[in-house]
Amino acid sequence: SDGKKFLVTNLSADLHTNYGFVGKEALKAAKPGDVLTTNANNSLYVIEPSFLDLYRKIKRAPQIMPLKDIAAIVAVRGICKESLVVDAGTGSGALAFFLANIVKKVVTYEVREDFFNLATENLKFLGLKNVVIKHKNVYDGIEEANVDLACLDLPEPWKAVPAAEKALKVGGFLASYSPTVPQVSDFIAAVTANKKFIVVKTIEIIQREWEFNERVIRPRSQPIGHSGFLTFVRKISL
Ligand code: SAH
Repeated sequence: SDGKKFLVTNLSADLHTNYGFVGKEALKAAKPGDVLTTNANNSLYVIEPSFLDLYRKIKRAPQIMPLKDIAAIVAVRGICKESLVVDAGTGSGALAFFLANIVKKVVTYEVREDFFNLATENLKFLGLKNVVIKHKNVYDGIEEANVDLACLDLPEPWKAVPAAEKALKVGGFLASYSPTVPQVSDFIAAVTANKKFIVVKTIEIIQREWEFNERVIRPRSQPIGHSGFLTFVRKISL
């Protein structure tokens, strides 16, 4: 009841938690909706893991994109189950996998072998069938055509503008995510110089959590951290 979750992946071993343990026989027999009691007399509620429960468990190496920023990409660009999305770089695959759960297909490019391997392992864990991870440098080109959305989360996104221009369909969007202002500025300069694109907007999503504790109802006292700026660009001509 305090929100802590345990993912059970092995039914032939007991589950040990800091709330006590549950034997493997009880785990095997458990169905969603059941309540298991640990040897320390604590209650564990049995639920099927949702996509997001599993997603939160993926291994992270480079900085992953926070859900608040992923949500902005999904909402602002209106992608749907028909959409083809290209993403670079893959990193741990967080953005690619979240989008794959919504769209038709995601193709994601990663230049580093270690991150390519990590993302491949994460993809296997999530069991998504509509993701292709390519061990390639996206600055050298995007092999897909007629792309609805291309997402860039790279140190030098302006270098991927020619590749994105070729790959996107007319009316398709390019979303670039960067932590610093000079990166945003260089990216906007590159797309402004390309007459096939128009810059739609740059936004920063600020999310402030509140605490609710009897009469202490107020914003949490931790400072709001910075993640990145999102710049949206649209391809308007062939
Ligand atoms: N959006 C990802 C995080 C990306 S971190 C997530 O949500 O998990 C940036 C990644 O881009 C790193 O893994 C880096 O290796 C990769 N990268 C950098 N330059 C690249 C390039 N030219 N082509 C492909 N990937 C690149």
